[in-house]
Amino acid sequence: MLYDEDDTICAIATAQGLAGLAVIRISGVSAFEIADRILRHRTPCTKSAGYSLHRAEVVDGAEIVDDVIVAIFRSPRSFTGDDVVEISCHGGRIPVNRIMALLILAGCRAAGPGEFTKRAFMNGRIDLAQAEAVSDLINARTDEAYRLAQSQHRGVLSRLVEGIRGDLLGVLALVEASIDFPEDVGELDVDFCIAELKRVEAELAKLLSTADRGILLRSGAQVVLVGRPNAGKSSLMNTLLRHERAIVTDVPGTTRDTLEETVNLAGVAVRLWDTAGLRTTDDPVESIGVERSRLAISSADLVVLVIDALVGITSEDKDLIDSIPPGRLLVAWNKCDLTGAGDLRISAKLGEGIEQLESAIVSRLLGDGESGEAGDVAITHVHQRAAIERALTLVIKALETATECLPADLISVDVHGALSSLGEVTGQTAGEDVINEIFSKFCIGK
Ligand code: GDP
Repeated sequence: MLYDEDDTICAIATAQGLAGLAVIRISGVSAFEIADRILRHRTPCTKSAGYSLHRAEVVDGAEIVDDVIVAIFRSPRSFTGDDVVEISCHGGRIPVNRIMALLILAGCRAAGPGEFTKRAFMNGRIDLAQAEAVSDLINARTDEAYRLAQSQHRGVLSRLVEGIRGDLLGVLALVEASIDFPEDVGELDVDFCIAELKRVEAELAKLLSTADRGILLRSGAQVVLVGRPNAGKSSLMNTLLRHERAIVTDVPGTTRDTLEETVNLAGVAVRLWDTAGLRTTDDPVESIGVERSRLAISSADLVVLVIDALVGITSEDKDLIDSIPPGRLLVAWNKCDLTGAGDLRISAKLGEGIEQLESAIVSRLLGDGESGEAGDVAITHVHQRAAIERALTLVIKALETATECLPADLISVDVHGALSSLGEVTGQTAGEDVINEIFSKFCIGK
């Protein structure tokens, strides 16, 4: 493990910056004793009931540092499962930093990224999928992404995966009984096993079909607008931004006239890049822009090539079309108010055809696969998809073995493997490296 699990840890749980309040969270076996060392109050934390609130003063020797409210959570009924104290103090830099410094002097360790949520997972308060959803809830940029994170946090995905694991365990019990106690249970009922494995196969396939949409909704996508100068890229960018009134985020520290903005297209947080025109040039400044455009194109989820319909496809456009896989390219014919040429016809200037373009962008991002109509349950992380894929492959292998009436221990090996892959989603069988990788992406204080 990355951290010592027996420490008592503390962190600022609220955003850094000036605010009315800030919350400092303390979690661990000595949470109450350590908090008592810096607080002056009528009832010490060690004597306070769980779920109780107390007024207190944070003191540094004789000096009163802040007036605060202290919330007590007794193990195991806290977010982490440890004893937890939450101090609500004034949300200025000075009180927050001083209280943190006092806590560390009094015996706390500053928490690492995601350490509170990791403890909740290690203590069995939540499973791995739910723990990941804590971060997804906070990072969600669209209502749809938030809804998915909510459902995963409530354990909808976990219960589905657990249900499938239960079915597989049933098959495994039959298979292993037929191996270990043939005289008691008789021969393996192969037909029943095949029927059960087919059911599991269908469930896994259905769950997998939700992955493209789920991952896209959670993580958003990068879409690059390219085209020769004057094709209308900037106009299109402005039209998309204005059209989609729910602009999700402005990139911090930039103004409206920058080249990158995020919009909400049908629930997908799409980062739009308006690139410099792609053309060969001797101008050193322009070449830097062209180079940047090439980089943006190579890392984009989707490239929208804007064609000036009055000009048509130039040889440079043609080169670009040839260099991008068709699944990652969308060609939009702009200035359709002036001419009738092209397939996907838009007018960035008049706002015509923009809804069609938006839905073309979203369906291209989702790929040709099924849209995954599984309601509010979806796979939202790449590693979850990989685990479910491995489980499905092994179930199919077990099915083949059963169909060919091969020895039962071969079925057993693959079903074991499938169970273990499914357990990576909920965390029972996830390795330490996977777990550490997941929590290292969290913010401190979560
Ligand atoms: P960029 O160089 O590709 O970013 O192109 P701009 O967005 O700056 O547009 C170049 C010129 O084409 C401007 O004068 C725009 O007003 C004009 N333009 C862009 N889109 C349209 C359109 O749909 N119809 C018409 N008629 N003009 C357009």
